[in-house]
Amino acid sequence: MQWIYLSPHFDDVALSCGGLLWEQARSGHAVQVWTVCGGAPAEGGDLSEFAQALHRRWGTGAEAVESRRAEDIASCLRMGASWRHFNLLDCIYRQAPGGEHLYASEQAIFGELHPADLPTIQAVHRELVAAPLDAVLVCPLALGGHVDHKLTRQAAEMLGRPLWYYPDYPYVLRQAEPIPAWEREMWQARVFPVSQPGLDAWGEAVAAHASQISTFWIDAEAMRAAIKEYWGEIRGVRLWVRT
Ligand SMILES: [Zn+2]
Repeated sequence: MQWIYLSPHFDDVALSCGGLLWEQARSGHAVQVWTVCGGAPAEGGDLSEFAQALHRRWGTGAEAVESRRAEDIASCLRMGASWRHFNLLDCIYRQAPGGEHLYASEQAIFGELHPADLPTIQAVHRELVAAPLDAVLVCPLALGGHVDHKLTRQAAEMLGRPLWYYPDYPYVLRQAEPIPAWEREMWQARVFPVSQPGLDAWGEAVAAHASQISTFWIDAEAMRAAIKEYWGEIRGVRLWVRT
């Protein structure tokens, strides 16, 4: 069977389901990670203060996307997955036709989608049409409300085909329930077991995104401990499907 996981950013699938991809690849499934915001901003282009501050924290400088693509390839290789990087820009780089930065603060990236971003949803949708109909498509629930996660889910849902959903880790930890109680009866969860070697691969796949560890943890060791704790709850990865 073919599984295609949609990752809004380079690290989301590794973080949320890394061990599951490893198990599936090992069982002979063809597993792919399609990263939606995989495009690089124009060289010498106008970056917001916010984007420049992120580059400093990541320790990547202006070639951030190039480094993150290389990190993703190493991560996918560890999981046994193949990869595809769409050419769309991360929200921190997107600008309105007049030059205005659409998301120039931490608050903005977890806020509402900017009206000037509607063509971005269409562009993601056009890329997703290429997904073979016999592949299982897995998209983020968009927990945490990051604009790039929301637009990935919206573009996938526009396909009008069955989808599986993964809880966005670590954002899922801040939610009491990944599916709101009122909507719960429309959803079913399935736990996919992940073994100890799968957990090891999961931690290493996330560690491959070295520039991103500081977003959530003080170091890679703290990240591994956190992933192990998350895994330990069900010794697997839970995916959701709408009934
Ligand atoms: Zn993300």
